[in-house]
Amino acid sequence: GMPKLNDGALLRNQAYLNGAWVGAASTFDVTNPADGATIASVPNMGADEARAAIDAANAAFPAWAAKTAKERAAVLRKWFELMMLHAGDLGALMTAEQGKPLPEAKGEVMYGASFVEWFAEEAKRVSGDVMASTWSDKRMVVLKQPIGVCAAITPWNFPIAMITRKVAPAVAAGCTIVIKPAEQTPLSALALAELAHRAGVPPGVINIITADSQRSIDVGKVLCDSPVVRHLSFTGSTPVGRILMQQSAPTVKKLALELGGHAPFIVFEDADIDAAVEGALVSKYRNAGQTCVCTNRFYVHESIYDAFVEKLAAGAAKIKVGNGFEQGVGQGPLIDDQAIAKVEEHVADALAKGANVLAGGKLHALGGHFYEPTVLANVTGDMKIMREETFGPVAAVTRFKTEEEAIAAANDTEFGLASYFYSRDIGRVWRVAEKLEYGMVGINTGIISNEVAPFGGVKQSGLGREGSKYGIEEYLEMKYLCIGGV
Ligand code: ADP
Repeated sequence: GMPKLNDGALLRNQAYLNGAWVGAASTFDVTNPADGATIASVPNMGADEARAAIDAANAAFPAWAAKTAKERAAVLRKWFELMMLHAGDLGALMTAEQGKPLPEAKGEVMYGASFVEWFAEEAKRVSGDVMASTWSDKRMVVLKQPIGVCAAITPWNFPIAMITRKVAPAVAAGCTIVIKPAEQTPLSALALAELAHRAGVPPGVINIITADSQRSIDVGKVLCDSPVVRHLSFTGSTPVGRILMQQSAPTVKKLALELGGHAPFIVFEDADIDAAVEGALVSKYRNAGQTCVCTNRFYVHESIYDAFVEKLAAGAAKIKVGNGFEQGVGQGPLIDDQAIAKVEEHVADALAKGANVLAGGKLHALGGHFYEPTVLANVTGDMKIMREETFGPVAAVTRFKTEEEAIAAANDTEFGLASYFYSRDIGRVWRVAEKLEYGMVGINTGIISNEVAPFGGVKQSGLGREGSKYGIEEYLEMKYLCIGGV
């Protein structure tokens, strides 16, 4: 069920459109993945509401863009402070609808809020350029202006951070935005809207359309088809990213895509094994393995393989599985039946092809959406788990002999989001870091994300970068002024 909130008004069961809370003809249920209980029902909106939200965002754009950066920064700063003030309630809502352990949910609230704080600051640092003119009687200047109305489609694995990482830079730049949150986790999004409202975000600047999985497709089409929407930012699966890219072609929309990953984690023979195991545990089992930067494949040098897998299995076996509201729980439920089915399929495929289980390997005794933290050894490249994103708490470990072999195996994928390796040899650290075809490389660490760093992937993991000083550029257009007659 749903825990009692300190501020009950943060649990919203209407969508947020043009500064008002609105319902729809029908609703859909939001359930707790830990016990299947319905915790709320929210409007099941569709194409009409999506069009209304775009209109509202379009109407609000000129006035918001005309505000000074300092004025927009002040509103964002207020929003950030409200998120911090209500971190407990936001975390509880998240654990209830998403399942992650409460401390981890609160951690995401902090992480999500950090983007609002960061882009409140960055709003004031958007600067143009003055070029050295090639004409003595002309001056050449570049202006940076907000791109216009934006759209965001977000996933359930980070119900708050994936919204703020898009909305904060958009709003800081002077854009307005329509958000379609994941159908599994709309309550976190609506609570954010309530706080944005209290912070003084004007009507139409931030709009949230809730829709179930079917209607999300209709909403997505309207957002892509609209010539008013100049930018679409999506975080989710690669297949859906491809669909949105295709749908955005007719309007030549600017796109930011954060898609799937298949992170390799290489442990070289000169690594600190205990540190590598510690990094492996956080990079693998955080959010029950349901993040796009979670390790999917471990490559361990043959000379330290046995020691590594033994310690990894011991660490995995210690993780307490349960309802995210319970004390000491390190791993909550997976999001739904489909997620469990995918994990079971990958484990069964690996076992059939010769892998063996060192920890876990099956549905947890709690049943439902709970799966045991799992370590599979003797994994080989022909297994599904080595090619497809598992999005679950399963570590697949294989051996390698040479550095070249490990790099080639790590790069042998269409994905290119996060990668990790452990080594204490400075030459090797540079060499391997330069050769990994990934947007992000964690070296001697399993945790890399924060608001200051550019998050994003290469190859079929996506387009663009979020967060950092680069993240706001997505939402800005350059305008070149050539001023003659000087
Ligand atoms: P996941 O498998 O993690 O749920 P998806 O890529 O299916 O990832 O979903 C991420 C987001 O994309 C969700 O908000 C979902 O509703 C939305 N979505 C899924 N399919 C479409 C589509 N065809 N058009 C627009 N949005 C979609």
